[in-house]
Amino acid sequence: MIGIMGAMTEEIEPILEYMDDLKTEQIGQNRYHTGTIGKKAVAAAYSRIGKVNAAVTASVLIERFGIEKLLFSGVAGAINKRLHIGDLIYASTLVQHDVDITAFGHPLGFIPETGDFFASDQALNAIAEEVALKLKIPLGSGVIATGDQFIADEKKKRWIAEKYKADAVEMEGAAVACVCNAFNVPFFVLRAISDAADMDAEFNFDAFLKSSAAISADFVINMVEML
Ligand code: SAH
Repeated sequence: MIGIMGAMTEEIEPILEYMDDLKTEQIGQNRYHTGTIGKKAVAAAYSRIGKVNAAVTASVLIERFGIEKLLFSGVAGAINKRLHIGDLIYASTLVQHDVDITAFGHPLGFIPETGDFFASDQALNAIAEEVALKLKIPLGSGVIATGDQFIADEKKKRWIAEKYKADAVEMEGAAVACVCNAFNVPFFVLRAISDAADMDAEFNFDAFLKSSAAISADFVINMVEML
């Protein structure tokens, strides 16, 4: 079983359109959809926004649905200047930019017995690169920084860029990475840029959420066919 996750309904709806034999089950406050994409069994769900919600859904997908790999699809704010609205980036590593126990001498983002930067699965990343080449879709990769904040501020954006060398910012990826790491489940996090995490971010997010979420979902669907 392959798990596909998003944070918002806009990120998962385009995935559901590709699924056959759909069944829906409510667990806690989330709806989990099982079915097939081609010959592959899939469980898909959106978590709702933020790290805690994302951790719940990732855990349920792993423990209740027995997923063997998790693909996250969604939108993000661009930190790297080379990323523009609609561009795709997958996470090579992910970090929680809002974790700070530096008072005890730990680096920013670091949690004892957990770590700071989580590396995504290289085999899944290689499949993504293959899909991008085959379909001639530009695909970036880099550090994705996650926190329970919508970043819409140049100063904060620069701080995240400096401290974590991040290329994009969002609110769920590192939580999914942390859960998958804990359960030893390979994971892949893909984001299409919806905004530039700057003073226009709210406006651009609203304008581009749907189109960028669909770009990311389409790519993930192409990946499922190659798994
Ligand atoms: N407009 C929504 C809230 C969106 S929060 C509402 O009112 O319901 C932003 C979502 O998109 C999160 O799931 C996050 O992962 C992603 N995201 C996109 N741009 C972001 C940014 N600049 N900063 C943080 N998260 C961002």
